[in-house]
Order: sequence, then C-alpha cells, then structure tokens
Amino acid sequence: MGRLDGKRAIVTGAGSGIGRATASRFAEEGAVVLAVDLAAEAVDETVGAIRAAGGRAESAAADVGDEAVVEGLVDRAVKDLGGLEVVYANAGVPGRPAPLFDLTAEDWENVLRVNLIGPFLAIKHAARVMRETGRGSILCTASVAGLRSGAGPTPYSASKAGVVNLVQTAANQLKGTGVRVNAICPGLIETGMTAPIFEFARAAGKENKIGQLNPLQRYGAPSEIANLALFLASDEASYVNGQAIAADGGLSSSLPVVAGHLF
Ligand code: NAD
Repeated sequence: MGRLDGKRAIVTGAGSGIGRATASRFAEEGAVVLAVDLAAEAVDETVGAIRAAGGRAESAAADVGDEAVVEGLVDRAVKDLGGLEVVYANAGVPGRPAPLFDLTAEDWENVLRVNLIGPFLAIKHAARVMRETGRGSILCTASVAGLRSGAGPTPYSASKAGVVNLVQTAANQLKGTGVRVNAICPGLIETGMTAPIFEFARAAGKENKIGQLNPLQRYGAPSEIANLALFLASDEASYVNGQAIAADGGLSSSLPVVAGHLF
C-alpha cells in the first residue's frame, strides 16, 4: 500500500532539486505524477527515472508563471491522469543577488511572476477542479527566506513571504470545500539553485561550514523536503491546513546567538 495510492499529482520544478525528489517520492508512494518544468530535457529525465523505478509519470515543459499554461496543465491532468488530488507549486527562481538599492523593477518582476504569481495560478486552477470533488491538497514551496531577513535576495525573500500569506488566505477562501493549502519553508538544501554556494565552499575547502547556523549543524537533502511534501499531500495530514511549515534543521526557531555568550 502506497501512501498516495489513487492520487493524481502535479509537481512543478520537477526537473531538478526538491521538485525532482518530490515527484519521485510521490510516484514511489503510488501517485500518478504530471512532472512540470521549464527545462524540457531535465523533466523528461525525471520522468524516465520514475518509470524505470516502476512508477507512473508524464512530463510537461511549461512556464508556471503563465496563466493559460497553468490552466492547460490542470486540464491535462484531469484528462490524461483522470483527476487531480495533489498540486505542488514548487518551481522557483532566486533572482539576481544584489543589494536592494541596486535592483530594478525588472529584477522584481520575474521573481514575483514565477515564485508568487506561479503558486497563485496553481491554487486558482487546481481549486477549480478540487472543490468539485470536495478534496485536494495544494502545497507551495516558500522558504525560511520568507519568514525573516537574511536567507536570500530581497525580491526572492518578499516573494516567499507572499507565499506564506497566500496559503493562509487561500486556505480560508476555500473554507467548506475540503481543499487544504499549505506551504513548506525549506532551509538550506543542496539543489541546482544553491549549487553556487556549495561549489564556492567546496573550492575553498570549507564544506564543513555549510549549514552550521542551525541546531542540527548541517544542510538538508531534497529528499528531506520531499518527505514533508509527501506527508502534506497525503491523507495523513487531513487536519493540517493554512500552515507554513519549516524544514530547516531548526534555523528559524532562534534569534541569532553569540556562541558561549548566554549558555
Ligand atoms: P532548482 O533550481 O534545483 O529547481 C528549480 C526548478 O524550477 C528548476 O528545474 C527550474 O528549471 C524550474 N523553474 C524555474 N522557473 C520555472 C518556470 N517559470 N516554470 C517552470 N519551471 C521553472 O532549485 P530547488 O532548490 O529545488 O528549488 C525548488 C523550490 O524550493 C524553489 O521554489 C526554491 O525557491 C525553494 N527553496 C529552495 C531552497 C534551497 O536551499 N534549495 C530553500 C528554500 C526554498
């Protein structure tokens, strides 16, 4: 028995990192997955690996910031997979790492389009289908960067703070429908997006310094986010709604502390 047996799921950003790990995890647990990414070859690879492992998946090369495209993906899931119980709006971009004062409106526009308008479109169109059946779980990837300052560029952080509020608002606007909406706030996870941080640290011989700020004193793996997504997608999380749950080794549980100063 798989934990997602009988469920049909869309996972975006499934060509890499957290999305790829989650699409695979969902399929391992019995879901049929429509894996979506802007990068066609990468998402085909994800689907190839799922099928090779005995899972069921289809791929779509698509831009999650385009409303007509998102509407089409939801319609395709209903038509090709036979329905839609789970959507994970996970695709994201970091944007340009520059101080706030050097940024332009254009720098903000693409980050907000993918990271915040993307999840909005996923919720809007998934809910259209899910509310008719009276069940569904919608997940979005926010970030610890959306909880407070210091974990990402300014537009990125603001987009993720927007996602935290979006899931609260959406869960409440879906009152009485049986559709749940939650966000995951990962800490530092080794993926395509964070590859430059890891490459830089490794080149400097400082890999053991990565992720030291949280109480577990390590960085995370995509599978550790996929496992939380699996729980939230499944009926095991049937009473979890409107939440933004951090999976960050405990990073967001503390204010900065000077080592040895207090205790
Ligand atoms: P990643 O770069 O490995 O994967 C992101 C994927 O999203 C890529 O395959 C990319 O092609 C795809 N994508 C980008 N724009 C898209 C678009 N417009 N339409 C469709 N697909 C698009 O990075 P990741 O770390 O796996 O990121 C997944 C999510 O996790 C993102 O929302 C990111 O902000 C969030 N996140 C990551 C970390 C981390 O430490 N890696 C921490 C917190 C939050």
